[in-house]
Amino acid sequence: MAKYIFVTGGVTSSLGKGIIAASLGKLLQARGLRVTIQKFDPYINVDPGTLNPYEHGECYVTEDGAETDLDLGHYERFLNIYTSQANNVTTGRIYQTVINKEREGAYLGKTVQVVPHITDEIKRRMLELGQTGNFDVVITEIGGTVGDIESLPFVEAVRQLQWELPDEDTAVVHLTLIPYLKAAKELKTKPTQHSVKMLSEEGVHPDVIVCRTERPLTPDLRRKIALFCNVKQEAVIEAADAPTIYEVPLAMMREKLDLICLKKFNINDYKEPELTKWKEFLDKLNYPKSKVTIGLIGKYLELQDAYKSILEAFIHAGAMNETQVQVVNVHSEFITDDNVAEKLGSLDGLLVAPGFGHRGVEGKIIAVKYAREKGLPFFGICLGMQMAAIEFARNVLGLENAHSTEMNPDTTDPVIDLMDEQKKIKAKGGTMRLGSYACEITPGTLAYSIYGTGNIQERHRHRWEFNNEYLDRFENAGMIASGKNPESGLVEIIELRDHPFFIGVQYHPELKSTVERPAPLFVRFIVAAKEYDEKKSLAKSSISGALTH
Ligand code: GLN
Repeated sequence: MAKYIFVTGGVTSSLGKGIIAASLGKLLQARGLRVTIQKFDPYINVDPGTLNPYEHGECYVTEDGAETDLDLGHYERFLNIYTSQANNVTTGRIYQTVINKEREGAYLGKTVQVVPHITDEIKRRMLELGQTGNFDVVITEIGGTVGDIESLPFVEAVRQLQWELPDEDTAVVHLTLIPYLKAAKELKTKPTQHSVKMLSEEGVHPDVIVCRTERPLTPDLRRKIALFCNVKQEAVIEAADAPTIYEVPLAMMREKLDLICLKKFNINDYKEPELTKWKEFLDKLNYPKSKVTIGLIGKYLELQDAYKSILEAFIHAGAMNETQVQVVNVHSEFITDDNVAEKLGSLDGLLVAPGFGHRGVEGKIIAVKYAREKGLPFFGICLGMQMAAIEFARNVLGLENAHSTEMNPDTTDPVIDLMDEQKKIKAKGGTMRLGSYACEITPGTLAYSIYGTGNIQERHRHRWEFNNEYLDRFENAGMIASGKNPESGLVEIIELRDHPFFIGVQYHPELKSTVERPAPLFVRFIVAAKEYDEKKSLAKSSISGALTH
């Protein structure tokens, strides 16, 4: 029988529930327990696949092709585990299941209601992973903030489970904010008291209160929170702002968050946390020996969360190389032939990001051309790979009108075209080529030397693909397909033969990058960026040397 931890949030959103859940999971895992984490989201979309990144940040994709909340990325990066469709549940999915069952006649004669039918379905899914026998602890993060209308059925399900399961099988961790009022020079506990009160009114009493705070909690404050929220003083946990999310597990360890849960669970046979690799990673991250600047070209640049997994993959790969990776945003809409050198001149590497639609596409193509011609390390992901193919077709093969049919359905040279199996699909939700697919890599290529193997599996999320009718022409001119799907022959990796590092991938390598297993392509991209930076400095010093002589 697994133990269940529920993580709720109060006062405001964006407190970092996902990071707290992932940190707690990491600590329990480091103590020898088998842990998984799931997220329950209160919105009515069946999954976040159809959401604009502006609304909800990046859409994370699992091995089994589920389009999920970006917090699942944190769970995988922290715990070095794979999650699945079962790890992300939305109100939409719950209702869809219940309504389908109703149509099948599963509730014949009964009025179908939020309680018990919706709450029963929520509970079934909350318990599901714990019943597989694969996990000792299942952490469930409840999206939204306590008090929201939308999250009521989820909190009710937690209440019922707290009542149904033995006391030592559940724990509720409530994350709140302790704001600092500058004028009063004081941390304020009242919003926390109110949010715990609200949770209690819904019938759930927290076992632990984790307090997000800019300033240290004094013992007096901890006592006050404990007293008025009715928890033990040691169950009031300080979660101070951290310089990086990867420090949070250690901060939670110092506050004994894991031990409090283990005590509630009556688990006594645990070991000291094994965090050697994690700490080595943090040392390298905190004390880099060099620095590179990478330009990230995309269209959702104002939003930190839109390219979350890419930014985190850079952190993992940077640490591995003991290099600080500064990622600068480059708006592709503003790149022209005239200003490209000025805009990209200071970069050590260029990453063209995944995306959809035509906005900013021409600027991306100009940027790719610059990287190709100047020997600037280039890394294209999904749409970025497609842009690289279009640029090559136009400027090397002389196919002036080359394009993707996504942006120009009437192009005479559709070097990127809709996959055959996509042509008949009309519905948008969950219908892309999603999840893990095999890729066979040709020995002797850059991709092969990076992965060190000819057989890999990477995750996908796209509808368009490289049009194999053009492949011979590309390969004869120096751009080769170094990786292909063995069954369908779809091109997965393209690379330039005569370039220090020019690689485009149809899949998303960032999705499998974790602290303990950084994505190989990112690691080597940073190596190439470092080499480029050194070459640039050498060239500069020889010019200034020449000028002074
Ligand atoms: N829009 C492109 C496609 O669907 C690329 C998708 C992506 O970058 N994830 O093929």
